[in-house]
Amino acid sequence: MRIDLHTHSKVSDGTDAPAELVARAAESGLDVVALTDHDTFDGLDEAAAAGERLGVRVIRGAELSTSRAGHSVHLLAYGVDEEDPALTAEMIKIREGRSGRLSPVLAKLAELGVPVTEEQVLVHVGTSPSVGRPHIADALVAAGHVANRTEAFDRFLADGGPAHVARYTVELERGIDLVHQARGVAVIAHPWGRGRKRLLPPEVLERLVDEHGLDGVEVDHQDHDPAERKELRRLGARLGLIMTGSSDYHGVGKIDHDLGCNTTDPDMFARLQELSALR
Ligand code: AMP
Ligand code: FE
Ligand code: FE
Ligand code: ZN
Repeated sequence: MRIDLHTHSKVSDGTDAPAELVARAAESGLDVVALTDHDTFDGLDEAAAAGERLGVRVIRGAELSTSRAGHSVHLLAYGVDEEDPALTAEMIKIREGRSGRLSPVLAKLAELGVPVTEEQVLVHVGTSPSVGRPHIADALVAAGHVANRTEAFDRFLADGGPAHVARYTVELERGIDLVHQARGVAVIAHPWGRGRKRLLPPEVLERLVDEHGLDGVEVDHQDHDPAERKELRRLGARLGLIMTGSSDYHGVGKIDHDLGCNTTDPDMFARLQELSALR
C-alpha cells in the first residue's frame, strides 16, 4: 500500500486542481493521498469526490501556519472537525495575515528594482482563499525578474530575505491544542527541514509530546537529509510518535517533490487512522 500524507493543490500554492491532483495520485500508483492545503479545507470535497471515482482513498487534512520563537513551523492536521469554531476562526486570521502582507512585500520588491503589481500577482492566486509568497514568486517569474519560484525565494522572499515581511501565525503549542480540540491528529511537517532543528531540538519535541500530546512528526521529507531522518526516526520511536513520510507535492510549483517520492509506512498510517477514529 502506497501512502502520501502531505500534498498541495491550487486551493493553496500547488498548481493542480484538487481532482487533478487525485487523478495524478492514482496514476502514480498511490492508494492513499492526503490533501493538506495551507490553512484551508476548501479543496477537500472536490478531492474526496475524485477519490471515490478513481478508487484512491483521500485523507482530509490541512497544513497550519504556526510559529515558535518567531520562526515558522508547519503543522499538519488530519481528520479535524472542519466546522470547529475556534480552529476555523484561527485559520481565517492566518489567511488574512498572509494576504494582508501582499502590499508591503510589493513595496519592497519595487524598491529592490523588481516591481510587480497586485494585479500581476492575483493572476496566479487561482482558487486559493489567501495570497501567499508562492503566488508573488509566480508573478516575479512571469515578469521575467527570476527564472523560477526557487530563485524568487532565494533572492527575495525567503524568511529573512530582502523582501520578506512577517505575518500573523498561531503559536505552535496553541495550534496543536486547537487541532486536538477539533478532534484531529497533529503532526509537525518537516520539523528539521531548512535549519529548523535549532528551533525544534529533541528536548522541545519531547516537551510538546508531554505537555501538548503532539501525535506525530513527518520524518521522510525532501528537506531532511539521511542523517536527519535517521536521528528523527530514533527520537520519534523513543517518544512514541507516529512517523510519516510524504512528498509535499505542489504540482509544478516545487521541483523534486513528486507525488509518492516519500511514503508513509502502512503501520504508521493505521495508527494515525485509529487515533483519528478515537477522537
Ligand atoms: P507564505 O505562506 O506566504 O508565508 O509562503 C510559504 C510557502 O512558500 C511555503 O508553504 C512553501 O510552499 C513556499 N516556500 C517557502 N520557502 C520556500 C523556498 N525557500 N523555496 C520555495 N518555496 C518556498
Ligand atoms: Fe506551500
Ligand atoms: Fe510546509
Ligand atoms: Zn506543505
